[in-house]
Amino acid sequence: MSASILDGKLIAAELRESIKQEVDAQVAAGNIRPGLAVIMVGEDPASQVYVRNKKIACEKAGFNDVSEVLPANTSQADVLALIDQLNNDPTVHGIIVQLPVPKHIDPKTIIERISPAKDVDGFHPYNVGRLATGAPQLAPCTPHGVMTMLEKTGIPLRGLNAVVVGASNIVGVPMALELLNARATITVCHSATKDLAQKVSEADLVVVGVGIPNMVKGDWIKEGAIVIDVGINRLDDGSLCGDIEFEAAKERASWITPVPGGVGPMTIATLLQNTLKVAYHLD
Ligand code: NDP
Repeated sequence: MSASILDGKLIAAELRESIKQEVDAQVAAGNIRPGLAVIMVGEDPASQVYVRNKKIACEKAGFNDVSEVLPANTSQADVLALIDQLNNDPTVHGIIVQLPVPKHIDPKTIIERISPAKDVDGFHPYNVGRLATGAPQLAPCTPHGVMTMLEKTGIPLRGLNAVVVGASNIVGVPMALELLNARATITVCHSATKDLAQKVSEADLVVVGVGIPNMVKGDWIKEGAIVIDVGINRLDDGSLCGDIEFEAAKERASWITPVPGGVGPMTIATLLQNTLKVAYHLD
């Protein structure tokens, strides 16, 4: 079997187009444009690329981009003061702080200062709690983007054995909660998991977000499984690869995401979707 490709780039482009059309309609009806504030502290090169991509996506969708790039030595108190100001600004609907932040800043303190109603990354404990209780409001973008991709492709999840490899607050844990809410049966693996290959080989659906190039081997994949690779790793030759051996896994899977062009584009499209929801009080 050779898997069909889950084309995140195409699905994200369609989602962004529908968001743009909604913005155009709302603006034509006299409403303001959604405003997204991306705060970046310091000049981490990978973060600069992400922030630039978010800025371009904002502009294309007709959003107001209110990005703030602060010097690396900005104090935590000054970052908190900026968040307070944005929390109170009615033209700003979404606020995110690009991670990682410099070491003198505590990411938890920063995330918890963002108003849950404007927390379009979905990292605030309130929004994590909403997801965990099956009543999500603003769900973390990468896992929710994966769910949108599966839904738009028409892949049913109810009753599947799903294995999530990676248990971070950004990827693995909210991914597991999303899949649980879709009535899959979940196993979450992390660095202390025993017999990882065995666990992956039992999965009807496997989602990997670890950050180690090609860590999950193609021959671990069950015949016909759905394979989602969240990992983005830059190799020495400058190329990108995921956490799963793509070519070998493709021979066994029924559906598979490429890297790049799979989960990555869905993340930014979902960030826009969350901001749109806040701006126009959509469900
Ligand atoms: P973290 O480093 O925060 O988390 C990595 C997770 O992988 C941890 O839970 C860790 O376990 C687990 N892990 C590490 N080694 C192993 C191992 N040998 N076996 C099993 N599990 C292991 O990373 P992130 O979640 O932030 O990111 C993961 C990947 O996803 C990265 O490549 C990142 O670039 C990518 N990413 C992609 C996005 C996209 O839009 N496509 C968005 C966000 C991230 P433990 O908890 O025990 O430490």
